[in-house]
Amino acid sequence: MAKIRMVTPLVEMDGDEMTRVIWQWIKELLIEPYVDLKTEYYDLGLENRDKTEDQVTIDSALATKKYGVAVKCATITPNAARVEEYNLKKMWKSPNGTIRAILDGTVFREPILVKGITPFVRSWKKPISIARHAYGDVYKNVEMSIKGKGKAELVFTDEAGNETRSTIHEFDGDGVIMGMHNTRKSIESFARACFNYAIDKKQDLWFATKDTISKIYDHTFKDIFNEIYEAEYKEKFNELGIEYFYTLIDDAVARVVRSEGGFVWACKNYDGDVMSDMVASAFGSLAMMTSVLVSPEGYYEYEAAHGTVQRHYYKHLKGQETSTNSVATIFAWTGALRKRGELDNIPELSRFADKLEEACRSTIEGGVITGDLAALSELENKKIVNSRDFLLEIKKKLDEIL
Ligand code: NAP
Ligand code: MG
Repeated sequence: MAKIRMVTPLVEMDGDEMTRVIWQWIKELLIEPYVDLKTEYYDLGLENRDKTEDQVTIDSALATKKYGVAVKCATITPNAARVEEYNLKKMWKSPNGTIRAILDGTVFREPILVKGITPFVRSWKKPISIARHAYGDVYKNVEMSIKGKGKAELVFTDEAGNETRSTIHEFDGDGVIMGMHNTRKSIESFARACFNYAIDKKQDLWFATKDTISKIYDHTFKDIFNEIYEAEYKEKFNELGIEYFYTLIDDAVARVVRSEGGFVWACKNYDGDVMSDMVASAFGSLAMMTSVLVSPEGYYEYEAAHGTVQRHYYKHLKGQETSTNSVATIFAWTGALRKRGELDNIPELSRFADKLEEACRSTIEGGVITGDLAALSELENKKIVNSRDFLLEIKKKLDEIL
């Protein structure tokens, strides 16, 4: 079989630890033998981020604006321990935070369902997609540690120099404060992205905030969603027989757990971070969830929802066997290749992506699984394989399908 030609390169963002190891294997075993792979490569591994003073992360996001589609490996977000481990010049910011701040947009996460892997939540029959706002709030915050007595204030100075002030707290001892923001423009595009996605999927859209406590900040999100729904989407939703449902975040959490699934759950940035891990784990595994950032301008960045699987990497370094699930990382590649195929009108590239996904599903449905799925798999003759053998098994299936 001749290799499938590509026209426009994908922006390839390499990453860290176990996912970096798997990244190379996926390319070597599952993509390069079939596709004449074109990428513009950015090494977002922590060492290179440190070396380039994190410029490489910014460059990779700008390249995504240029080419339109990126695929990203999981990366380390440095904390104090990582600064020491990698002897870093600085505690660099989260690459995902940097990329999302440049691209704006919404992150959509969906569990990958396979037969024989049953969700932990028994009532869940259909997938729950999370739509996570990718801009602002605590991810673009400014924090301050307070020493001793004093007054903390919130001050806004408009263009004419007029100040609006509000007291945050009169401290009589040490403490902490934080300032966060969001923009009407970003919230509006988040709302439209969610309504469009729900229409696309023909599923209800749920949205929740804590507007009873946050009467201005969260309430603004609620109001903007409602205004846009009433003005632009209500009719279409009625036609399709789907619903826009708003409630408080704690009520939403309780309802989600009792639901059957089969809806899109729009979450503010932090809620989406937390809830997507909960939803992914409850559906089976963090490694069975896809993730794509869609910017309002129509740029796409595909990644796995999980991290660099540090614990497995240390075992791998010691020469011990690991059983790391590569499905979400493979689906990041297939998502990006399929989108590139659509944009460049290369249907065989999109079809290849479909077949590679089918190969992943049928490998697991055939009982060949990684350790994370062992407890959930209902198959009788299941076989737990190591990280590389899992990819080799998928390759076997892929060759059968092709
Ligand atoms: P993690 O890499 O998601 O792993 C947490 C645990 O979940 C693992 O120890 C493993 O459980 C299980 N797991 C996750 N992915 C798996 C896979 N593909 N196959 C099998 N099991 C899997 O999170 P972490 O260990 O908290 O974070 C490690 C690093 O990742 C951190 O430096 C963090 O900054 C970074 N991170 C990056 C991203 C991103 O780039 N998008 C997201 C989150 C975290 P067992 O150990 O029990 O097997
Ligand atoms: Mg997270």
